[in-house]
Parts: sequence; C-alpha cells; structure tokens
Amino acid sequence: MGTPHVKAKRRRPARGRRPRRRVCLRKGCGRKYQPRRWNQRYCQDPECLRQVRRWLAARRQAKRRQDARVKVRHAQAEKERRQRAKVAPEAIENPEVAPARGHAAENFFLSPYAIDQAATNPP
Ligand SMILES: [Zn+2]
Repeated sequence: MGTPHVKAKRRRPARGRRPRRRVCLRKGCGRKYQPRRWNQRYCQDPECLRQVRRWLAARRQAKRRQDARVKVRHAQAEKERRQRAKVAPEAIENPEVAPARGHAAENFFLSPYAIDQAATNPP
C-alpha cells in the first residue's frame, strides 16, 4: 500500500515575524534594506536620510507658505526689509573689509617664505 498523503500545514510562528526587505522610497535611491520598524520607509544610509529630511523640510515649508496668515506676515516683513534697504543701502552694499579668517590667515605671515620668496619671485 502507498503511504498516506499528509498535508503538512506549515505556518510561521506569529512571534518571530520580521518585516521583509524593502526598497527605499526616496526618489533616486532605490536601495534595498532591512527595516527595523514596520513603518520605516527609507533606508538608513546617512546621505539618504539627509536628503529625505531636506525634502520633508521643503515640503513642510511649501505647505506653510500656503497659509494666508503666513503670506501676509511675509509680505509685511519684505516690505519692511525694502524700506530698510532704501534708508541705508550702504550698510548692505559695502560690508566692512574683515581680516582673513580660516586657513588662509593662519601661519601666512609667520612664514618667512611668504615675504621673502613668494612675494619677490613671480612664477
Ligand atoms: Zn535610501
């Protein structure tokens, strides 16, 4: 006789369920990743996250600009800014010549070559 055909029902335990690998939803990314949370939509690449946050901030800002009160306030602020620019244009067009900052300022005048050779011998 043949062996009895047993239909084995294989079911995964509900506990050990983990979300499947997904594709990152950010446009232009498309990386596959293993989500840590069920509602995670983007891969955790730092550059991708930065871009996502940027995009979210831009969207938030765009939505905010739709608000009529915000529009009025912005128009008022721009009006004031134009008035200020009309009253004192020199303050904006001629910023004070500030001393050099950053790497260019460091050690330049301390080095004797900055004065001796580089300044006297043009390339
Ligand atoms: Zn991504």
